[in-house]
Amino acid sequence: MIHSFFGGVYPATRKGNTRRKPLSRLSQPPKEIVIPLIMCADGPSTPMVSPGDSVTVGQPVARRGETGAAAHSSVSGRVAAIEKRPHPWGGLSSAIVIHNDDRNELYQGRLAPLDPRQLTLEQLVERVEAAGVVGMGGGCFPTWEKLARSAGKIDTLIINAAECEPYVTADYRLLLERGEHILRCAQVLAVHLGCERVVVVTEGDKLSAVEAVERRLRRLHRVRVQIIAIRTRYPLGAEKQIIQTVTGREVPPGGSPLHVKCAVFNVATVFAIHDALFQGWPLTHRAVTVTGGAVTRPRNLWVPIGTPLRSLLEACGGLREASDRMLTGGPMMGVALQNLDAPVTKDTNSLVCLTDWEHKPETPAGVCIRCGKCVAACPMHLPPTFIRRALEEHDVEKLAKYHLEDCNSCGCCSFICPAQIPLVEAVSLARAVLRREGVGK
Ligand code: SF4
Ligand code: SF4
Repeated sequence: MIHSFFGGVYPATRKGNTRRKPLSRLSQPPKEIVIPLIMCADGPSTPMVSPGDSVTVGQPVARRGETGAAAHSSVSGRVAAIEKRPHPWGGLSSAIVIHNDDRNELYQGRLAPLDPRQLTLEQLVERVEAAGVVGMGGGCFPTWEKLARSAGKIDTLIINAAECEPYVTADYRLLLERGEHILRCAQVLAVHLGCERVVVVTEGDKLSAVEAVERRLRRLHRVRVQIIAIRTRYPLGAEKQIIQTVTGREVPPGGSPLHVKCAVFNVATVFAIHDALFQGWPLTHRAVTVTGGAVTRPRNLWVPIGTPLRSLLEACGGLREASDRMLTGGPMMGVALQNLDAPVTKDTNSLVCLTDWEHKPETPAGVCIRCGKCVAACPMHLPPTFIRRALEEHDVEKLAKYHLEDCNSCGCCSFICPAQIPLVEAVSLARAVLRREGVGK
């Protein structure tokens, strides 16, 4: 049975430009790749190479220290520098810069593929950690940790292919083209996590992916995975909303999916786990959608992690008209880019270059007309307009009662507000105020 979640909005999906474009490799490999030491929400990784060292494809170049995740070279060549470079999350970050020698030499110390019939939970967790897999849907949390925490504590495993952000189709193409690997891996994960139900969730407008996955399911004996397509409503792909839709269970304020016996893994993460376990291959490449009205030939690309975003745009014929807003991650929750010098990181699913007719022009915020639309749209039951007012009045006591830690920055409130009040920013600021006052997360 399909349930529903509270709130949400219906932005134009605008996926038509890339939906039918298969994942393809760059015809011109990047001359230089940049591996930021911050690619994990846990904190920075520790470099294992120095300038001048030779590296091969798949070779570890950074390890998890107290924080972070392992990172691997996605090309063969020479380490040119470890220096500050632009990061797609904003600002500068220390990064390993590698000059590509175009030889594509593979790392000799590559880990052996594991036999799914002999696999233990310890091996699974260890391998996923060694492969540097993190949540590739935007969370960037270390996947090994999530697996270890979920084992024996969940009854439902959800594979998230909902991809509800407008424009982005990278996960859709991955499910369509590599569905068999994803389904097999989902089944293996379910066995080791000890859960009975495995559900792949996609949006209702992606029926070709559903049909392809169902065809594969019929061919794969003994794989018991359910696939469901749900009518498109943003933010279906957010963790708490997808859980509520699949199970009817609501994650309590401040709680995690484990509180309701669920674990959610992005479809790209599951594919990366598959490669790590059964190919012995660390996370070095990912699917990225390059699109938006300003892009000459929008495409879905399969690219080495560390490729500068500029190279992706060049592979799509560059800009056909000026873009006044370039983002990674989509227009609802994406991060605006100052320039395209930043590289593809493990969570970069898209480069979206918008023209001025594709997004609301930046106009000064109007006055709240108390329509209540932001409250009705908030999927986390928060009252954005009241939060903003409490923030303006610096009423910390009131702010502390609003469960601001539940805000997932989905952007529904700002999107729906007829007065164009930047409510997401107000809620983030309110959270910062609470943190400063020592009363929030
Ligand atoms: S308050 Fe947060 S969770 Fe609610 S709609 Fe706004 S951004 Fe989304
Ligand atoms: S949607 Fe905008 S105008 Fe309407 S109540 Fe919320 S803040 Fe006020």
